[in-house]
Amino acid sequence: MVENERLRQELQELRAQPAAPCPGCEHSQESTQLRDKLSQLQLEVAENKGMLSELNLEVQQKTDRLAEVELRLKDCLAEKAQEEERLSRRLRDSHETIASLRAQSPPVKYVIKTVEVESSKTKQALSESQARNQHLQEQVAMQRQVLKEMEQQLHSSHQLTAQLRAQIAMYEAELERAHGQMLEEMQSLEEDKNRAIEEAFARAQVEMKAVHENLAGVRTNLLTLQPALRTLTNDYNGLKRQVRGFPMLLQEALRSVKAEIGQAIEEVNNNNQELLRKYRRELQLRKKCHNELVRLKGNIRVIARVRPVTKEDGEGPEATNAVTFDPDDDSIIHLLHKGKPVSFELDKVFSPGASQQDVFQEVQALITSCIDGFNVCIFAYGQTGAGKTYTMEGTPENPGINQRALQLLFSEVQEKASDWQYTITVSAAEIYNEVLRDLLGREPQEKLEIRLCPDGSGQLYVPGLTEFQVQSVEDINKVFEFGHTNRTTEFTNLNEHSSRSHALLIVTVRGVDCSTGLRTIGKLNLVDLAGSERVGKSGAEGHRLREAQHINKSLSALGDVIAALRSRQGHVPFRNSKLTYLLQDSLSGDSKTLMVVQVSPVEKNASETLYSLKFAERVRSVELGPGSRRTELGSWSSQEHLEWEPACQTPQPSARAHSAPTSGTSSRPGSIRRKLQPSGRSRPVPV
Ligand code: ADP
Ligand code: MG
Repeated sequence: MVENERLRQELQELRAQPAAPCPGCEHSQESTQLRDKLSQLQLEVAENKGMLSELNLEVQQKTDRLAEVELRLKDCLAEKAQEEERLSRRLRDSHETIASLRAQSPPVKYVIKTVEVESSKTKQALSESQARNQHLQEQVAMQRQVLKEMEQQLHSSHQLTAQLRAQIAMYEAELERAHGQMLEEMQSLEEDKNRAIEEAFARAQVEMKAVHENLAGVRTNLLTLQPALRTLTNDYNGLKRQVRGFPMLLQEALRSVKAEIGQAIEEVNNNNQELLRKYRRELQLRKKCHNELVRLKGNIRVIARVRPVTKEDGEGPEATNAVTFDPDDDSIIHLLHKGKPVSFELDKVFSPGASQQDVFQEVQALITSCIDGFNVCIFAYGQTGAGKTYTMEGTPENPGINQRALQLLFSEVQEKASDWQYTITVSAAEIYNEVLRDLLGREPQEKLEIRLCPDGSGQLYVPGLTEFQVQSVEDINKVFEFGHTNRTTEFTNLNEHSSRSHALLIVTVRGVDCSTGLRTIGKLNLVDLAGSERVGKSGAEGHRLREAQHINKSLSALGDVIAALRSRQGHVPFRNSKLTYLLQDSLSGDSKTLMVVQVSPVEKNASETLYSLKFAERVRSVELGPGSRRTELGSWSSQEHLEWEPACQTPQPSARAHSAPTSGTSSRPGSIRRKLQPSGRSRPVPV
C-alpha cells in the first residue's frame, strides 16, 4: 500500500507537470494514451474494490443473520426442553396419580359400591372424578400432540440451520473466490500501472531532454534578437516623434480636402441645376410633342363601334346584318340602308369582333394625357341597345372604359410616384330632363346647380357634388356599386331610365411634381349618353315627348359645341344644355374629346344607324378652317340634332383630309401652364 501510495503521488506529480513543449511529439501522444489507460485501470480497481466491499458487507449481513437464527434456535430449543420437561413432569404426575388411583381402586370400588347405594352425592363425586380423569387424559393427548409438533418444528429448524450453514459455506467460498479474483486483478493492475509509469517516465525524460534542447535554441535566438529589438525601439521612437507632428499634418490635409469637397459639391450643384433645367425643358418638350401628336390625330376624334348581333335582335329579315367593313381600311364602314349602300369615313371603326381591350387601347393615350393635366371627354353616343353602356361600363368579367381607365391611371400614377404625388378623385352624376343629380350623394334626388367659381377664374363648379378619393380598384368598385345602388333605388325601371339620361363619371387627377413643385389638374369625363333614337318623330306624347325633347336638345347642344370648338368659333354655345355647360372646361382649350358612336348591326336599326353615323361624320368633318371662317358656321338644330347642315360643311367624302388641321391653328401654349394659371399667371405655382 505504501508503494502504491508513493506511485500514485509520483503519477500525480507527472500529471501536474506542464504539457510537453513539443505538442507534435509522438511520445506525448503515447504518454496521453498511457495516462488514459492508467486512469481507466484505476477506475476498474476502484470498481472492483467497491464490489469487494459490497460482497464483504453481504457476507457480514448473512453471518449476522445466521448468528441471529442460531440464537433463536437455541432459545427455541431451550424453551422446548423446558416445555418437554414440564410436560413429562405432568405426565409423570398423572401416571403417578393414575397408579395411586389404581392402587386405591378396591377400596374405592368398595366405597363406590357402598356409596352408590348410600348416596347420590358420592355418585356425583364419582362422575366428576371420571370427568376429571377424562379431561386429564385429553390434556395428556393434547400435550402429546403439542410435543409432536414441537418435535417437528425442531426438526425443520434443524433442517433450516443445515441449509443456512450450507449457504454460509457457499457464500464464504464465493467470497474467497471473489477475494482471490480481486487480488489477482489488483496484481495485474498494479503491474500495468507500474509498466505505464515506467514508460511515461521514460518518455517524459526524453521529452524533457527535447525541451532542454529547445530552450537552448530559444536562448541563442534571444541573443540574436536583441539587436533587432534595439532597431525596433529606435524605429518606434522615430514614429512617436512623427505622431506628435501628425495633428498638424492632418489639419493641413483636412483643410485641402475640405476645399476640394466644397469645390466638388459646387460642381455637382451646378450640374444638378443644369440637369433640372434640362429636365424642365424636356418636360415642356414632351408636352409639346404630346400636344403635337394629339393635334395631328385631332383634338376631337370620332370612332364607331359596331356591336355583335344579339339574341335580342330576334330572327328573320329584320335581324339580318346591314353593316359591312372595308378589309383594307379600318376607318370605313358601309351600311345597307333601304337597299342602298352608304359609306362613312371616321377616325376608326371597330367591328363586332373587337374586344373591350381593343377599344381601350385606342383611347388609352387620351386617358394618360389626363395625368399630364389635360382635360378629356369620352362620349358614348348611339341609339338605345347599340352598346353604349357595354363600352363604357362593360360587365364585371369584361369591364369597359370606365374601370380600365381608372386602373390605367392607378398604374401610371404609381410608376411616376418617385417624382410626382397624385390624388385621384371620382364623382358620378346624371342628367335627366336637364336636371343634374349626384349619383354618389346621400340625397340623389337633390337637383344640383352649376356655378361659376367665386374666385373670378371663370371656372365652373357644382356645389354639393360628392367627390370620393380612390386609391385602388376596390375603391372604384365600391364607388360604382354605390352609384348603381343609388340609381336602382331611385328608379324602378333602370334600363329605361338610363337610356334616357346621361350618366357621367368624372375623374379628377391632381398632381404635384416633387422636384419642381409644378401642379397639374386633369379631368377625365366618361359620359354614357342618353339613347339618340328619335322618339320625337314617332309621335310620342306627354312625359315621353318631354324626355325626348330634352335628350334631343342636349345631344344637339353637344353637336353644336363640338362643331364650334372644331371650327374655332369665337362663341361656343356651352350654355345651351346642362351637359355642355357642365363639361365646358373639359371641352374647351387644350382638351381632348373622343366620341364613340355605337352602332347596331341589324337591318331593323339601319335607319337609326344611318343617323348615328351621319352625326359622327358631321362631328368629325367640321373643318378647322382659318380664323375668318370661325363665325360662319351655323348652329346644330336644337330641335333635331341630326338634321343639322353646317353652313360651311365641306363636300363628302373629304372628311378624312380635313381632320388634319392646317398648320398653325393648334399650336397653343403648354397646356399644363394653362391649367396652373386659371387666373392668368405666367409662371407655375410651386408647392
Ligand atoms: P345601350 O347602353 O346603348 O343601350 P347596351 O350597352 O346596354 O346598350 O347593350 C345592349 C346589349 O348588347 C347588352 O346586352 C350588351 O351586353 C350587348 N352588347 C353591346 N355591345 C356588345 C359587344 N361589343 N359585345 C357583346 N355584347 C354587346
Ligand atoms: Mg345604356
